Amino acid sequence: MLGSFMMDLITRAPRRPVAGETLIGTGFSQHLGGKGLNQAVAAARSGAHVRMIGAVGDDDYGRQFLQRLDDERIDGARVMTTARGTGVGLPLVEPGGENSIVVVPRANLAITPEDVRAAASMLQSSDVVLLQQELPLDAIAEAARIAHDAGVTVMLNPAPVLEGTRGLSGLVDILVPNEPEARSLTNDPSGTAEAVGKALLDEWDLGRVVLTLGPAGALVVDRDGATPVRAHAVDAVDTVGAGDAFCGSLAAGLARGDEFPSAVRYANVAAALSVTRAGGADSVPTYAEVSELMSGD
Ligand code: AMP
Repeated sequence: MLGSFMMDLITRAPRRPVAGETLIGTGFSQHLGGKGLNQAVAAARSGAHVRMIGAVGDDDYGRQFLQRLDDERIDGARVMTTARGTGVGLPLVEPGGENSIVVVPRANLAITPEDVRAAASMLQSSDVVLLQQELPLDAIAEAARIAHDAGVTVMLNPAPVLEGTRGLSGLVDILVPNEPEARSLTNDPSGTAEAVGKALLDEWDLGRVVLTLGPAGALVVDRDGATPVRAHAVDAVDTVGAGDAFCGSLAAGLARGDEFPSAVRYANVAAALSVTRAGGADSVPTYAEVSELMSGD
């Protein structure tokens, strides 16, 4: 896994301040996050042996991330400590739950294709290489190319969509976008979710597309057609990180050798469980928790 680390510094306020204004906020919390960390934790809690490539700063936040990797039994030997500070996310949440976010990637932008090449043997010896896009695209492309050339399954969560993301087509086996991301990555964005999935399959030369559809579940599209997976019914508390829980759990299921439909069912239940709890990485369930819920289905 090549991925990001962002310390989320969440402020709550009655409204967004206007230019020049200082506003008294009503709440503050701090969470270790970033799509990379969230997905790595999801995969590790699902029983996968996760090895991560990434970058943090030589600061207190960076040390907290390295400690978390240890706590989750994630191999962080290829996580660099750089002179740039650790990445931060600064969401401002308004009373209705609406939020606006500034993300400053800092150390995450220090990763180069050379750093990825230095970890080539790790990528080549993996069962699945999971990628997201909070890092420089040239580093992501290098990881995809190395894994693809070695015949390793490449899974891409194209979030956030970057200019140039389409350049990764041909290197990816499994694309896992949400619906807006899926539409922005095809030449034919206006049809049904199924039509968009089929268009992506052809344009990107993929094995499979898994569209995540929030409370509607997911849609798997492959050469045999489209298979909807209904969301596992839960009382949603916080959907932050649901997509990350889905991606990390799906990669873990495939790495342990599950057939694709079972891996998707597993990821769907893991993601549903994650929305019953607050937080990104903190809300991700374990293999035992997901299995127990699935056996009751
Ligand atoms: P999203 O990134 O919002 O598309 O969500 C990713 C995955 O999380 C979905 O494919 C579902 O498996 C699960 N999920 C999201 N929201 C809910 C919800 N309200 N209830 C149950 N599962 C959900």
